[in-house]
Amino acid sequence: MQAINWKTTARDGNARTGVIQTRRSVIETPVFMPVGTLGTVKGERFEWLESEIDARIILGNTYHLWIRPGTDVITVLGGLHRFSGWNRALLTDSGGFQVFSLSELRRIGEEGVEFRSHLDGAKLFMSPEISMDIQAVLGSEIVMAFDECPPGDLGKEEIKTSVDLTVRWAQRSKDRFEELQAGGSDLGRVSFETSDLSGKQALFGIVQGGGHLDLRKESLERTVEIGFDGYAIGGLSVGEEKDVMYGVLGDLAPQMPESEPRYLMGVGTPEDILEAVSHGVDMFDCVLPTRNGRTGGAFTSNGDLNIRNATFRDDPSPLDENCKCSVCRRHSRAYIRHLYTAKEMLGPILISHHNLAYYLGLMADIRTAIREQRFSAFRAEVLAHRSAG
Ligand SMILES: [Zn+2]
Repeated sequence: MQAINWKTTARDGNARTGVIQTRRSVIETPVFMPVGTLGTVKGERFEWLESEIDARIILGNTYHLWIRPGTDVITVLGGLHRFSGWNRALLTDSGGFQVFSLSELRRIGEEGVEFRSHLDGAKLFMSPEISMDIQAVLGSEIVMAFDECPPGDLGKEEIKTSVDLTVRWAQRSKDRFEELQAGGSDLGRVSFETSDLSGKQALFGIVQGGGHLDLRKESLERTVEIGFDGYAIGGLSVGEEKDVMYGVLGDLAPQMPESEPRYLMGVGTPEDILEAVSHGVDMFDCVLPTRNGRTGGAFTSNGDLNIRNATFRDDPSPLDENCKCSVCRRHSRAYIRHLYTAKEMLGPILISHHNLAYYLGLMADIRTAIREQRFSAFRAEVLAHRSAG
């Protein structure tokens, strides 16, 4: 029995809609997964995510939760679902991206990575096995393999070396993952009386290779050979030019297995998501809706705005006149700007909520457009409105 069931429900060109059935929730794709780095989607109560935005899956971050509060606390509390009170699906990243981007690196070896904590400088060691151990304690529905995330400016030979290491780490991730599942270490385990799901965690592999299409293809083939429940594209949106990212997406995504979900990690703007969907990507996550929300940045159907701008001082209109979210139904730009100016905590909360509602609303509209075979026209319309504003 499988950990997740995936089926494609409609196609329009390379774009596709589908349904991922996990042990905790049923997810319609293409899906945007709000980022809950520390077990919290910043500024957003779970009630709002559930009842208003209807997010079926959010992210948790292995590196951050490992360092704080620590796996000892989460083990006592019975896994991340019980610890945080989020009962729908979770996807946890492997911690790799943070180990490579946040911390002071000490040494990358075959075995793993030695580094110092970004919080207190403590010496730590992360490996594929340790990442799998932590993700079993977290008990997420979807576990990510531990990969090396090299900086975007490396030479081709170094990226090839990194791809080789990531493939070996993918195999080790899978071996350890299977031991943990067999040993009952997954704290999020669900027992079904009758279901076609196993109740276990699912494991996704990650394709690397920078901007090199041949290395991407090789990484994909070797990762698929190991065999995972889904496949992710890593190492994009790390400072490379847009045309490099779009080139990789256009070439790689259609080559990824039809029979498993495809996940683009850490991307991106509404424009990036529309591009990736057109090539057949199913899953997305990005910190932009909440990160921008904290500094006054709002995504809208008529383009992005910053509420701190003086032009909104006495503006009675909502953040986005086409948005039906509770913030846009109740509050004016002038009021939200006032909250920011007065440094009231509600300001960032309101914009973060609107931004998440905008992103998840966009995904729902994308799914409808694909089902109705009008994705290209829909995309052109969204882009035109956003750039005109
Ligand atoms: Zn809104």
